[in-house]
Amino acid sequence: MTLHAPVNKIIPFSLVDGPGSRCSVFLQGCNIACAYCHNPETQQLCVSCGTCVEQCPAGALTLQHGHVRWNKAVCVQCDTCIHVCMHRASPKVECLTPNEVAEVVCSYQPFIRGVTVSGGECMLHPEWLREFFSLCRAAGLGTLIDSNGCVDFSTHEDLLAVTDGVMLDVKAWDSEVFRKLTSGDVNVVKHNLAFLAEREKIQELRIVVVPGWNDPEATIAGIAKALGERTANTTLKLIKFRCFGVVGELANASSPTDQRMAELSEMAHDFGFTDVQLR
Ligand code: SF4
Ligand code: SF4
Repeated sequence: MTLHAPVNKIIPFSLVDGPGSRCSVFLQGCNIACAYCHNPETQQLCVSCGTCVEQCPAGALTLQHGHVRWNKAVCVQCDTCIHVCMHRASPKVECLTPNEVAEVVCSYQPFIRGVTVSGGECMLHPEWLREFFSLCRAAGLGTLIDSNGCVDFSTHEDLLAVTDGVMLDVKAWDSEVFRKLTSGDVNVVKHNLAFLAEREKIQELRIVVVPGWNDPEATIAGIAKALGERTANTTLKLIKFRCFGVVGELANASSPTDQRMAELSEMAHDFGFTDVQLR
């Protein structure tokens, strides 16, 4: 059976998705729902309700046999469809095979060093990823996964074998705080943290600091304890919450101050991190 994955977007060149210039592939659909999600339209698959079809000013959307079809060629990228969708979905998604995406990605060589697959949550498509990464590696490209950590990596050893590293979010440490923020189970993230560290597959760890919503001190301390002597060799990114693109309760919430971020950075150094980056 040919594998397909819902592809939301392919960005040819990115400097923020891992080392060097990389192509970034975003898959549609997520297994959690973060209160601070900046791309809520990537969380769900389209249910073909038809609302956006009538609103599209370019006639790029049609309802055929109960399914919404997107005509990329006439789309003017106004994003009206994203704004009117009440399902946190997008009609601008293509179901593509690993080979189809690899062809696009490889067309950007030699200007990229590798590819990073993100989401939504790309680990919802592990077999697709394994095949895609195998093709990218054969073409000489590096391979990174950007993940929320809520799918158990230890059951996907074959995927890890063709993956250079994982950019792992650790959104909170306390299980209730994590559940309120994301609706997910932090124990899976903690298991992945230990497993990926042991396999030396952590590219970087990321904590988004969301005032009043998560526990960055406990998260930094918990990660350091879990990593032990590996802490010094692990990149930690502390990212300011910004309300751009956010919907719901945090739509207009404030960002942490520079002073707050500097204090957390200092604390991370005290816990043994040597590469702490503020974003
Ligand atoms: S972005 Fe959406 S609404 Fe705008 S032209 Fe494209 S399909 Fe239509
Ligand atoms: S993208 Fe949203 S509004 Fe458009 S058909 Fe799908 S679910 Fe409905």
